[in-house]
Amino acid sequence: MKTDVLIIGGGVVGCSVARFLSFYDIKVMLVDKEEDVCSGTSKANSAIVHAGFDASFGSLKQKFNIAGSKMMEELSKELDFPYKRNGSMVLCKYKEDEPQLRKVYENGIKGGVEGLKLLTADEARAIEPGLTDELYMALLAESGAIVCPFGLTIAMAENAAANGAEFIMDCKVEDIIKQEDGYLVKTGKGDILTRVVVNAAGVYADAIHNMVSDNKLHITARKGEYKLMDKEAGDHVSHTIFLLPGKMGKGVLVSPTVHGNLLAGPTADDVDDKEETATHAGSLEELTAKASDLVKDIPFYNTITSFSGLRAHEEGGDFVVGECDDAAGFFDAAGIESPGLTAAPAIGEYLAAKIAEYLGAGQKDNLIRKRRAIPSPSEMSPDERAEYIRSNPSYGAIVCRCEGISEGEIREAIRRKPGAVSMDGVKRRVRAGMGRCQAGFCTPRTMEILAEELGIDMTSVCKNRKGSELIKAE
Ligand SMILES: Cc1cc2nc3c(=O)[nH]c(=O)nc-3n(C[C@H](O)[C@H](O)[C@H](O)COP(=O)(O)OP(=O)(O)OC[C@H]3O[C@@H](n4cnc5c(N)ncnc54)[C@H](O)[C@@H]3O)c2cc1C
Repeated sequence: MKTDVLIIGGGVVGCSVARFLSFYDIKVMLVDKEEDVCSGTSKANSAIVHAGFDASFGSLKQKFNIAGSKMMEELSKELDFPYKRNGSMVLCKYKEDEPQLRKVYENGIKGGVEGLKLLTADEARAIEPGLTDELYMALLAESGAIVCPFGLTIAMAENAAANGAEFIMDCKVEDIIKQEDGYLVKTGKGDILTRVVVNAAGVYADAIHNMVSDNKLHITARKGEYKLMDKEAGDHVSHTIFLLPGKMGKGVLVSPTVHGNLLAGPTADDVDDKEETATHAGSLEELTAKASDLVKDIPFYNTITSFSGLRAHEEGGDFVVGECDDAAGFFDAAGIESPGLTAAPAIGEYLAAKIAEYLGAGQKDNLIRKRRAIPSPSEMSPDERAEYIRSNPSYGAIVCRCEGISEGEIREAIRRKPGAVSMDGVKRRVRAGMGRCQAGFCTPRTMEILAEELGIDMTSVCKNRKGSELIKAE
């Protein structure tokens, strides 16, 4: 196989690079070792569009965070994914911590964050009544927002595919060998010859970088665990509530999600195994206690699932973005821990422009900037829904009762490019299985639809990667 640019990693960063690169007259290929895009850290995070006040002034984290946050609303309209500007609040519980809160505020102002305000405890409680009684001051960031991380990643992937980018899944990069004009990339699906490599491999970006460079990177996986609560609890708070940031990051937060659930977490623990995403009773207890320190009476009895994600913490502490010093045509997007989800659109746009310049490529005349989401009858008015179902009857057959997801939506999730090939792929595209019963009811029917659409046997239907088949025999 041969291409101009090979992107390694189909997370939010790789898909963003693919989207912006697909606007240029360049052959773009993206590979991922998993069966679908959005299968790494991009699927398990707090889903916050950070305003950008806490990353250090002058860092790449702050630069791309603020730029990404400014792009996100417009992008959500262009690519039709859920986004809501709900604002975030940083709580300062004690008078002695006021200088630290003011430092965060000033850091944000210096970096150009808009809509920052210092509030007294009473002012904060007037707009967020459930806050802890023990409160001295708060910082309000009006530009803080929430987003659907799957929606964002998949929308960028679909838009890239619509512009001709090729996605190859189940394709692990095993080695990279420098050539005179480019790289020979050895993968589980054969060799790929490319002029440019983009390293967007998440927690494995150090391993990919170290295949070509003598300036070694070292990434530690820093695990964060969460509790997700039912939609019944979704309006317990309206803003995203943080405590003052500490040495391990932004700490535990409490936030509504764009789909109306309530989220509490994450913890922060360094782990040796970069595949270790189990949740643990001790960590969940720790986050319960910390979240309860921020917001009163959180209805934890409404927890419907727990999950965890791995931050790609690079030793240097900042994002590593740009062309590698000792490997021409090799571009890193490494160490992309939080606020990487927020920063991804800005990183993608920046790297695409740099790569186009490197290859001397211009923009396409007929590029497609817009993408439409899969129609969702549960969000339509009764009249619109009736009309839509009359012409598309499969959208009237409800498969996932909790989220109100129809057969038509599931079939379209599989038919799109890149489409769902697993239960998790369907779940992340249309939320079938994301609700209160956590796929207890809709699993068999979704499996049947996957088997029909993909032309495979029921025993081959997987939860996610190969080896996660759900049944052994019919
Ligand atoms: C607990 C937690 C909370 C967070 N909260 C927020 C937040 O609220 N807001 C925010 O802005 N950011 C947040 N982040 C950060 C954000 O989620 C990440 O920065 C972002 O998702 C990273 O995206 P990525 O594309 O770099 O990595 P990933 O999504 O991990 O994608 C990397 C991809 O590379 C693939 N890959 C790896 N090795 C290979 C190989 N050898 N061959 C082929 N493919 C390979 C993987 O399979 C994976 O799909 C949080 C992160 C965590 C863990």
